[in-house]
Amino acid sequence: MTGEELFRKLGGTPIQMALGLYTLEACEGMARDINEIQNLKREKNAVILGHYYIPREITLGVADFVGDSYGLSQDAAKTSADIIVFAAVRFMAETAKILNPQKTVLIPGTDPACSLADSVTPERVRELRTKHPDHTFVCYINTTAAVKAECDVCVTSSNVVDICAAIPNDKIVFVPDRLMGQNVVDLLRSRGINKEVVIYPDGACHVHERFDPGMVKLFLERIPGVQVLAHPECDPEVIKQSHFVGSTTQIIAHIQKYQESQTLLVLTECGLVSSLLVDFPQHKFVGACQMCQYMKSNSLAGILRVLRNPQPCDAVNLDVEVMARARKCIDAMFEYAGKGK
Ligand code: SF4
Repeated sequence: MTGEELFRKLGGTPIQMALGLYTLEACEGMARDINEIQNLKREKNAVILGHYYIPREITLGVADFVGDSYGLSQDAAKTSADIIVFAAVRFMAETAKILNPQKTVLIPGTDPACSLADSVTPERVRELRTKHPDHTFVCYINTTAAVKAECDVCVTSSNVVDICAAIPNDKIVFVPDRLMGQNVVDLLRSRGINKEVVIYPDGACHVHERFDPGMVKLFLERIPGVQVLAHPECDPEVIKQSHFVGSTTQIIAHIQKYQESQTLLVLTECGLVSSLLVDFPQHKFVGACQMCQYMKSNSLAGILRVLRNPQPCDAVNLDVEVMARARKCIDAMFEYAGKGK
């Protein structure tokens, strides 16, 4: 790939809404990294998985699979590569390792944390188990392997409502996202399903919780016809005002269905909105950027570094017993997926 080719792909794309546009000069440097990464991928039989929220030069330039956490976990389960470079955050790379224990999973991000995944520990889940022994423990995929190992069923933003509906037990403990937990209760009720859902009180995504219900109200009042599309990690008062609620993949699929030009307020991390601006020029996108610094700690330079000269700290290493128990929790998700109403 040449710098000019990359610039043609990226040139009109905001780097992150407010941070300006890619320049030809920057693309020339990136193209050199991209070509070296492509050579190293072939040489080492490696694949690169990239989340929608990471910088676009990675998803357009070198990623073999781009998706949300559910889609990427499916891609991770299918790959025949020896090395998986997971350009996202640590808990997603751990999921890839659980599904591919014999493969090397490398993390290129310099700060691959997640405010949500880091809000709950296995000890806190065990305490809840003691208090709620009859409940089915449902954990969002945004949890560490050690937390998944303590739970019964894993869910993602794509399937959380369907799976909670399909679980035969009417008593559920949901960890760790308190906002998504309340949204699940509301969405189940809207389907006529009333379950007792105990919500872990201390977790939220620092990106999605910043979307303010008052701000959404203002957009709805000031922009006639604006369509509000929200991620289920947003505040329930935001969700109530939204026209569509879904994962990043579901939001993209929803936008694809519009026959006519729309004005859209998309309430999720702004990496997705930056891509939508280019992929759907027929629509107008309004609203402010909310950025995840953990996802943005991924870079071409980081990928190059872990492919060229991986250090032990770049690889995901998990306890064998923890992996086996976490695997059961993830497998339960794959079994339940599609069974909800
Ligand atoms: S956007 Fe939120 S949930 Fe996703 S990785 Fe960042 S902090 Fe975690």
